[in-house]
Amino acid sequence: MTNKFLVPLLSFTTFVIVGLCVWAFRDIRYFFLFTGIGITEFIVRSLVIKYPDKRQFLRLIVQAIIGGFLLFYLSLVIGVNFQYSEIIFDTAEGVVTGALIQAVIARVALPFLLGNAFCSRACWTGLFFELTNTKSCKKPVERNNYVSWAYLVIVSLLAVLIVVYYVNPAADEALRKVFIIGENIYVISTGFFLTFFLGSRAYCRLLCPFLTISGIFSPFSFFKVSPVEDANCTGCNQCTQACPMLIDVRQYVKEDKAIDHRQCILCERCISSCKHNAIKVDHNKRNR
Ligand code: SF4
Ligand code: SF4
Ligand code: SF4
Repeated sequence: MTNKFLVPLLSFTTFVIVGLCVWAFRDIRYFFLFTGIGITEFIVRSLVIKYPDKRQFLRLIVQAIIGGFLLFYLSLVIGVNFQYSEIIFDTAEGVVTGALIQAVIARVALPFLLGNAFCSRACWTGLFFELTNTKSCKKPVERNNYVSWAYLVIVSLLAVLIVVYYVNPAADEALRKVFIIGENIYVISTGFFLTFFLGSRAYCRLLCPFLTISGIFSPFSFFKVSPVEDANCTGCNQCTQACPMLIDVRQYVKEDKAIDHRQCILCERCISSCKHNAIKVDHNKRNR
């Protein structure tokens, strides 16, 4: 049986190691940042073990703390833009900044440990989209990989064009803040609008470039939402109905498979919704 504290301990250790590595590469502020995230995640995951019925409340607290810190302090005060456009601005200029570091860690490295958990623990736009969870139109539109990759290419090209033909907004403090605020308004309003017509969390499911990237690696995650051994599943479908990413969780439980869906954001809503304790976060049992 997996030790109850394995997930919190491993995630804490990972964040500290990441902080040390980035400190060696950049500066000590990143060590404090990642260690702070690790401590927050450890405390809250440990509290969930004691108070499992408060799982969602505690997760939203984590998301508010980490997401709020990234947006209000690091982005708006310090001026590090963590958004997708900034990554392209930086790359086009050939410079390595916080946005690029954050993207590589959160979207390439972390998915091998905790899948797309960044989306349900740290993304501040995700915090807004919590309001649209499972708010579905009558016929939600399924993700189409061609569309999501086309979107990623289009926004990347637009960002490159801005840098080449206009100015690198990353080089100008005032302009950078305009981009941070403008892009947030665009993503959040587009997300609300699309959800109304295309189903729960439509921006996340159908377009978000971050999820398109991390979704490549998340099926290989060490930890996944998985059925417990000898799950007492009644087929009530509550887990599927609770899933904001419209994943058929019940089918995974029925087949006794860990959820290796590219869009699982490890929000654990399916776990909270299951009255029979048939699902939990566990180490990878995909092939058991
Ligand atoms: S899919 Fe994109 S917008 Fe949605 S929570 Fe993840 S990073 Fe944030
Ligand atoms: S909520 Fe639990 S019991 Fe109901 S279908 Fe899902 S896993 Fe089975
Ligand atoms: S499968 Fe469960 S953990 Fe994954 S997104 Fe759906 S509700 Fe969240």
